[in-house]
Amino acid sequence: MQLPTIAWSVITVALGPFVGSFLGLLSLRLPAERPWAASRSACDGCGRKLTPIDLVPILSFAALRGRCRTCGAAIPKRYLLLELACLVIGAWSVVAFPGPLSLATAILGWWLLLLAVIDGEHFWLPDRLTLPLGVVGAGVSIILLDEPFTTPLIGAAVGFLSLWLVALLYRLLRGREGLGGGDPRLLGAIGTWTGWTGLPSVVLWAGLAGLSVAAAQLVLRRKVALDDRLPFGVFLAIGAWLTWWLGPLHTLLAR
Ligand SMILES: [Zn+2]
Repeated sequence: MQLPTIAWSVITVALGPFVGSFLGLLSLRLPAERPWAASRSACDGCGRKLTPIDLVPILSFAALRGRCRTCGAAIPKRYLLLELACLVIGAWSVVAFPGPLSLATAILGWWLLLLAVIDGEHFWLPDRLTLPLGVVGAGVSIILLDEPFTTPLIGAAVGFLSLWLVALLYRLLRGREGLGGGDPRLLGAIGTWTGWTGLPSVVLWAGLAGLSVAAAQLVLRRKVALDDRLPFGVFLAIGAWLTWWLGPLHTLLAR
């Protein structure tokens, strides 16, 4: 598409808060299996129909101090936090990449954020989020990055199979599940974006992030049992974002 770079930048940054608002809704409704299409339509407290003025990202929350205008019911804080986070992701993407790639980068970041929130809260990586992420990744890789169609395909296969094998081995050795069922599918989807050459970096970053959290828990003397579960999808999301942003580590070291 022939849009000037500045237009892509404006669109990407401006979309962020609206996407964040929608992510807030999805993060509440997908796990609760409530219908999620469209937007918030009524206050959960009093049922008053929300007007556009209630739904301006960030500003509405600030103006209403996080409460419904009519009944004073608290609006979940996640709306504000996700709107701000998505604004930051949009700005970060614009700084990191020019043109359409900045929007693609922001879409990846927003998507990973939603997955991380849902996995962090529910230990669940819904297929209806991970599988389309792979489809979009393949599109970005082929159309924007001019990769042959084999690149995302191989990335998906390597990502999925590697974690699937790890999960299988763990099950054989320990006799119980060590990874969530959605983790291999998430790494497969990530592989369509980074290609298989990026996957070792994704896993390395994810491992580092996971270890730092475990270490922080130890330092804070929170009891860490050996079977403590960590939402690995959160760490995979961090790894995917850093790898997409910085490139695979071996190319970083070669620079
Ligand atoms: Zn209300």
